[in-house]
Amino acid sequence: MRERELLQRIADRSADLPESFDRVLVGPGDDCAVLAPDGRRLVLTTDHLVQDRHFDDTLPLELIGRKAVMRSVSDIAAMAAEPAWALATALLPVGYAHADDLFDHMAHHAREFGCPLVGGDIASLPAGSDGPISLTVTVGGYAENPVLRSGARVGDLVYATGELGGSMTNNRHAKATPRVAVALELARLTTIRAMIDLSDGLGIDAARIARASGVRLELDADAIPIHTDASGLSGALGDGEDYELLFTAPSRATIPESIGVARITRIGRVVEGEPATIVRMLDGSTVDASEQGFEHG
Ligand SMILES: [Mg+2]
Repeated sequence: MRERELLQRIADRSADLPESFDRVLVGPGDDCAVLAPDGRRLVLTTDHLVQDRHFDDTLPLELIGRKAVMRSVSDIAAMAAEPAWALATALLPVGYAHADDLFDHMAHHAREFGCPLVGGDIASLPAGSDGPISLTVTVGGYAENPVLRSGARVGDLVYATGELGGSMTNNRHAKATPRVAVALELARLTTIRAMIDLSDGLGIDAARIARASGVRLELDADAIPIHTDASGLSGALGDGEDYELLFTAPSRATIPESIGVARITRIGRVVEGEPATIVRMLDGSTVDASEQGFEHG
């Protein structure tokens, strides 16, 4: 299939968008999409998915497309925002046979996550090069009050959704459901001071909140929810790609024990000190876990 036909297929797939998504006035097919923001704050994020770095050839095509979209949607969730639209580009080998299928999967999951593709583009790798494949997905969304990493205050309590670690088992890293509904419900119910999605590992990601807020996050080893697929505490702290939420809230805030299927666990507190992720072990000793994780960039 030629590029012109592929791009036409991207447009065809979204032909019914103006009716089904009222904030998208013009979808793919023109020079630009036309959107109608509705007075809330606009939040934007973009992310690469690169072959042999973020996925390998054992990952089914559908999950490659899903993961490319899901990573960006998870960032939107971390702002307590609602995903609204997506743009996808792909860098593929010349004559790549699965381009259409790949965009089908990205389009399907983008709609499933509430952010239909409003545009896309395909570029070819140099002739004779068969990789790496690269997908870039940009997602835009809307928030009443975007929750930043920088809002944590001394005295806040620290919470995580779900169970952490072992995400490579059964391709769970590509099947995760971004916690959009959980984040929106939390923001509606109570005060969330700071939030991040757990993409690189609890240790590294907690330290990002700590640095942005100028505080220290102290986590209790026996409170961290360890997934049954994880190899214990170190897996929960460092495996990454959980796509759960880590957030802080004032100690007086009432935080539900779960929202939908997502369990919410109190795992620690915000204290004064040099910004870091400090884990308090059962015997009372402490470990700096700020580097536990995996920089996927
Ligand atoms: Mg993130």
